[in-house]
Amino acid sequence: MKKNKENKKKKEKKKISAKRTWQNNLFALREVGKASPIYLAVYLGATVVYGLLGFFTGAYLLREIVNAVEAGEDLSGLVIYVAVFMTVSVLAYLAISWFWNVISPKMEEKISLRIQKKLFQKASEVELACYENPSFYDKYVRAMDEAQNRVYQVLNTLDTLLGHIITTSANSFLLFFIDPWLMVFALFPLLLGFLKKRESKINHDWAVARKTTERRVWYVQRTFYLNDYAKEMRIGGIYRLMLRDLRGSYRTFRDLTHKYGWKMTALSTLRHIGLDVLTVFGATLYAVWSAMCLGPEGGGMSVGDCVVVIGSIATVSYSLNYIVDTLTQFHEHALFLEDVRYFLDYEPKIVGGERRAPEDGGELRVEHLSFRYDGAEKDTLEDISFTLGKGERLALVGSNGSGKTTLVKLLLRLYDPKEGEILLDGVNIKEMTLDSYRERFGTVFQDFKLFSMSVRENILLREPREGDDELVTQALKESGAYERVMRLPKGLDTVLTREFDDQGANLSVGEQQKLSLARVFAEKTPFVILDEPSSALDPVAEYTMFENMMRATEGRSVIFISHRLSSAVLADRVLLLDEGRIAEIGTHEELMRKNGKYAEMFARQAENYLGSEVTENE
Ligand code: ADP
Repeated sequence: MKKNKENKKKKEKKKISAKRTWQNNLFALREVGKASPIYLAVYLGATVVYGLLGFFTGAYLLREIVNAVEAGEDLSGLVIYVAVFMTVSVLAYLAISWFWNVISPKMEEKISLRIQKKLFQKASEVELACYENPSFYDKYVRAMDEAQNRVYQVLNTLDTLLGHIITTSANSFLLFFIDPWLMVFALFPLLLGFLKKRESKINHDWAVARKTTERRVWYVQRTFYLNDYAKEMRIGGIYRLMLRDLRGSYRTFRDLTHKYGWKMTALSTLRHIGLDVLTVFGATLYAVWSAMCLGPEGGGMSVGDCVVVIGSIATVSYSLNYIVDTLTQFHEHALFLEDVRYFLDYEPKIVGGERRAPEDGGELRVEHLSFRYDGAEKDTLEDISFTLGKGERLALVGSNGSGKTTLVKLLLRLYDPKEGEILLDGVNIKEMTLDSYRERFGTVFQDFKLFSMSVRENILLREPREGDDELVTQALKESGAYERVMRLPKGLDTVLTREFDDQGANLSVGEQQKLSLARVFAEKTPFVILDEPSSALDPVAEYTMFENMMRATEGRSVIFISHRLSSAVLADRVLLLDEGRIAEIGTHEELMRKNGKYAEMFARQAENYLGSEVTENE
């Protein structure tokens, strides 16, 4: 029942009103016009010039020549006519070609950059929850994929439309002038428009139906070429499963081709029969009958007119057909641009307030906070309340899935709580601007990412400034990555990964983690959040890292998640989460004395370590 409703909703959404069709296409043209009005004007202007030249050197000239020859007239006037048009054509083609090859690439870059900037800006604003909503995510991927191309396609379609309007008008005028009855044949293709509209709708549905499977194919492709998956893909049989997936995806494509291909064949065959058989052959037979049976004396056509009709009727009917075609293409563009506009018009749910977050941080208070992921059946966090004093170090511990990372994401306002609030210096963080609030945090996520940029930029995460090298060097020393970086061919200038630079560096996961850790040492933010910063380090490196971290974050408020409870000893207080609730909170000593869950976990881990040491010593 629910599924039926959803399907119905989906179907409804695919429809788009005529008004919205034009609005969406105008949106694309406006984008081009705003980025480069000259480009838009020359693009369309060139078509008008080409169209007129085509007519005056084509059908019109042909008629003049045949009629002049038939009447035995002097051809010198025609020679001048041809010479003038040849000169104009050469000059026009030269100017337009210069524009296309020298000027327009620069303008196209401006247009592309404008569109990409808009999309990327929005992508950085939408909340993380959007990535977990498959319907939004599909729209988002389609918008990213299509936006740039579609904008050019709209322009291209408009250009084609303009060209065909000129060709059709000029040739129709000629045909009407020869014999008004020819208009019946010329206008017939308009009746076939509905078939084309149907084809365009099927085309769009087909493309949409392919999209999810295409994403799956891209995913499989990524697992085969991305470094991240290289090791797993070489051990075990996962690559066979991936190939199985790939075969499945292609089976889906085949089924879709079967579903939509036949419909498309039927519609386009019908349309072409209408166009070629009824229009072109019909008009040709009529013209031949008129010239042969009636002749000019009997009110029929001259041989010259008959020749022009045979040449022009196809031009007119195909041009008219293209006009209908372009109208339906606008409809197709509008359907895709709908996703782009939906995405660009999306109002992010997590927005900042007016106030700037205090420069030096302050007390962070979490009050009765509960949170549930979209679509989840129960709350991930329930009634969480605690205070992080200024300069306090809090260890966040708990088993996997207890909600530690989720709590961190809420503290960073990557999600907003369902209930409760977070206060910084007594002010709800929703009242503060997002940028100023998030800037107060230096964060290393468990699944941190390094970028294909220099070591320096990867640590600063901003444009480097004068004197930054000292800062970066110090941060690298504190995170324990300094010596490794100094051994790299270009030191701080070394680009990470070899994807774009032969001299780039591929670092081990532990080394990468140290680099990402250097980020929080370089920027002295009042808050530091470390989500399992030591997961890839060996125990000795981990101990050194935590010692360094304690020294380097002196005076800053720190929340760190660590799977090794031995490091929790270094924190001022420990917060133990259990199934989304605070199970215990207090200093290490207090919790050990309490002899509750934390003490039990601590003892178990210590036992394991001791156990492994015993085994090693044996
Ligand atoms: P921890 O960091 O303690 O291991 P997490 O905060 O990552 O725990 O996860 C807590 C719970 O929330 C887990 O059950 C996890 O499956 C669920 N969860 C985490 N991220 C998402 C998400 N994006 N969507 C839905 N559920 C999620």
